Parts: sequence; C-alpha cells; structure tokens
Amino acid sequence: MSEYYDGVLDEVMERVRPYVGAGTVADYIPQLAKVDPEQFGFTMATVGGDLHSIGSATTRFSMQSITKVFTLALVMGRSDHNVWARVHREPSGNAFNSLYQLEFENGIARNPFINPGAIVVTDQLLNDTGDAFTALRDLLREETGSPDLDTDHRTASSELATGDRNRALAYLMSGFGNMLEPVPEVLDHYVRQCAITISCEELALAGLLLARHGRRADGTSLLDQGQARRIMALMLTCGTYDAAGEFAYRIGLPCKSGVGGGILAIVPGRYSLAAWGPGLGEKGNSVSAALALEAFTDITGFSVF
Ligand code: GLN
Repeated sequence: MSEYYDGVLDEVMERVRPYVGAGTVADYIPQLAKVDPEQFGFTMATVGGDLHSIGSATTRFSMQSITKVFTLALVMGRSDHNVWARVHREPSGNAFNSLYQLEFENGIARNPFINPGAIVVTDQLLNDTGDAFTALRDLLREETGSPDLDTDHRTASSELATGDRNRALAYLMSGFGNMLEPVPEVLDHYVRQCAITISCEELALAGLLLARHGRRADGTSLLDQGQARRIMALMLTCGTYDAAGEFAYRIGLPCKSGVGGGILAIVPGRYSLAAWGPGLGEKGNSVSAALALEAFTDITGFSVF
C-alpha cells in the first residue's frame, strides 16, 4: 500500500510542478509578503498515523485561517452554550474579510470560517477558557506531537499593526452586542492564533482529528461523530470563502485554506491531506495546493461524492 501512496504522490508532484510559484503571496500582512513563493509541500496522513510526503513537507508556514477549524472544534467540543446563536452556517459568497453582510445581518457573521465568524468563535473560546490562544496552541501541539509548535510573533504583530478591517468587523459586531470580551483582547488572541506556524506533516497529523471523526491522537474524543461531520460540512460549504463552490466541484472534499498558502483537506474515515504553496489566487486560496488536491482526488477517485 505504501508504494501505491508514493506513486500517487509522485504523480501529484508531476502535475503540480509547472505551477509551483504561481499566484501571489499575501501582502496585506507585511510579514507574509516576505515568504519565498517557490515552495511547495504535500502530506497525506492515514487514520493509522502513517505519513507520505512530497516537497517541502517539513517546512513550517503561517497557518492563518486554517486555525479557524480547530478553534471551532475547541468551542464545539466543550460547549454547553449555543455558539450558533452568534454565527450562522451559510456560505458568504463574499471575501473572507468583507464587512458587507454584517451590517444588515445584525452583526451575525455568515459562517465561522470567514474572519468575522472566526473572531466571534475566538471570543467565545476566550470567554470559556480565559486564554484562547493557549487552548489552540496546546491542542495543536498535542495532536501533532510537536511541543515546540508556536506562534510567530513578527507575523502576529505585523497583522495587528495593519488589521484595520478585522478591527472594523469586531467593533461592528460589538456594536450589535455580539462580543463578550473587549475587542483589542479578542484580536490579540485571534492574530496569535492565525500566526501559528506549522508544516504539512504537522498539519496533516492535526487534521486526523477530523478524519477520525473527532477522536484525538491520545484516543480520547474532542468531538462526537456528529460534531465532526458538521465541521467538515462547513469546511466543504464555507472553508475556501467565495471559492467554496469551485473547490467542491474541482476537489470534492471538505477543505480549509489560509492566506499563508496552506490547505487542509479531509477524506472522512481515511485520510487527512495538507498541501502548501504560498502563491494565492484572487480569492485567497493557494494555487498550487488546490491543484495538488485536485490531482489527488482525480488520481485516487477519493471524494465525499
Ligand atoms: N489572519 C488573516 C486575516 O484575518 C486570516 C485570513 C485568511 O487566512 N484567509 O485576515
């Protein structure tokens, strides 16, 4: 079986090679603009924990919005409250940092995987635990087995310094009474979460939490099967912003992207896939990572459909 996976990944690499470096690195967070675009990595992890990788799969990159999946998992996993009173579950059809729908939807964001929705989920986790950043970092450390996994403070400060859109989103929600904690504190936790750096191998291991339907690396459960299924449904419908339809069409797996160029995809019950290339397309999703996932599902036939 191992040779089969290696053969699949070699073919993925062949298909992606001409596009490594394609797209544009995110430059609205100045620290991310410094990343070399000519990089690419891909890892598939089996639910048994075997890893198969190609390219720069141990190079760490900025996790950015991929953290939104794990923050939501933490809130849903401990929840005796209803976070769904504070954020909807519909695709937005707008950019991940758009203010447009918030005003006429009474400060309730369309879904937890665009910035305003994720800021609310971080606010909820901060209110629940007293330290949203550490709760997330520790979960990721435990699921990856990497005790040194951490935030990159330069990226976090760089985002905080230039993050007026996120401030506007958070204050608008606060104006509607949809923030529990002070906005500056919530945003401080949010940017440190986004600035966590992780490699494809580590991200694929973390993603097994969903591939195993909520079961953690240590065998305990963070989520029940229904909660894990619902998070993956949100990844499919909302995980790649206003390109979610295109991703479902091309790849057919629940995916979550981040502007650091990573994409996490799950084949439920089987695999977690992590792809990374810093160059983004116009909707903020990595060009080479999306092509790699498309090649993977093309070659193997694995999809949720
Ligand atoms: N930290 C980024 C932001 O808030 C995350 C966006 C993303 O990865 N799409 O803008």
